[in-house]
Amino acid sequence: MNEPAGIYLHIPFCATRCHYCNFATGGYESELARRYVAAMTKEISDAGGGKSDAEKIPADTIYFGGGTPTTLSIEQLKSIIEACRLHFDIAGDTEVTAEANPGSVSQEYLERLLDIGVNRLSFGVQSFDDGELQMIGRTHSAAEAREAVGMARSAGFDNISIDLIAGLPEQKVETWSRNLEESFALEPDHISVYLLELYKDAPLHHRIERGELRAIDDEKAVEMYFELMDEAEKHGFDHYEISNWGRPGRYSRHNLKYWAGAPYQAFGVSAAGYDGLSRWSNTRNIHEYLEKVEREESPVAERIQLDDDDRQSASVFLNLRLKNGVDLKQHLTRFGVDVRQRYRDELERLLDAGLIEINADRMAITRKGKVLANEVFAAFV
Ligand code: SF4
Repeated sequence: MNEPAGIYLHIPFCATRCHYCNFATGGYESELARRYVAAMTKEISDAGGGKSDAEKIPADTIYFGGGTPTTLSIEQLKSIIEACRLHFDIAGDTEVTAEANPGSVSQEYLERLLDIGVNRLSFGVQSFDDGELQMIGRTHSAAEAREAVGMARSAGFDNISIDLIAGLPEQKVETWSRNLEESFALEPDHISVYLLELYKDAPLHHRIERGELRAIDDEKAVEMYFELMDEAEKHGFDHYEISNWGRPGRYSRHNLKYWAGAPYQAFGVSAAGYDGLSRWSNTRNIHEYLEKVEREESPVAERIQLDDDDRQSASVFLNLRLKNGVDLKQHLTRFGVDVRQRYRDELERLLDAGLIEINADRMAITRKGKVLANEVFAAFV
């Protein structure tokens, strides 16, 4: 694969743990963070190092996710970016994203972040309702979210994304409408919205089980999603992926790689990569990660070799997430699989239910299909 890769960097530290979180993250400790940055730069150098300039893997997106990447100092983030630049062939116009939490970044920190090459920010806003923020264990307020986006603009960022969560327990359609109003009033360049999914040990899940909170019903969640789609369109956003809306030219180039089947390198605890032939993921345990990297061992916990059929099926359901859907002709050329033949029964069922549509050689998910997306994707797995 000569296509430029993305580079994902997982920073597993947070101020406190949100009540719904299932990410590999823990409390920030300065000594642990110091060791972690050293291990991550070593992992980057092991993966990309020892190659001549001509042999280096090309990459054009870098993404700091987590956790909360901005728990690290500017110097620490800079040393990680420098390791990427040293060991990969990083394009001049590389998109460098950092996830950040409102309330945890100052104007000066953001200016310095821009100075070291971060050119896109993704703020975990989640809600503009202080009661909802408290319920889910976020440490910031709605006012701090507004302030953070303002500071990022003043610092010079021209590519800002905000994350929201829909379908919170007890959430009212009116509160959701206000969340949307506030989001668009901030004029972000990009919005990601995820429907709350609770794993069984999440404190929020326990509160629902104990009857302290009521989960919202599916109909309400669908109403919220449709309202979001309509409002985003009114405000000039493209619904380019099921959970993502961007202004033209402001899609997440990094995340697009996941859906378009492009390769991505991944470093740090729990980070998952793909090189076109296999998928792998690192251990989720930070101590095991540190010990392995420090002992010159690989931190990879699982590697799955993909055969042609795995790749073609992933290509169908990942492309279905995207606005343009699946180019059936291109799919046939690339994988030798005629989707209409191969999935004849499934297609008939999904077409009859109005969940997908096929126009000429393009198969895409419908508005109705988007709210039942998992059912649609399952047909191709
Ligand atoms: S900030 Fe994100 S990663 Fe950290 S605890 Fe909250 S949800 Fe989890």
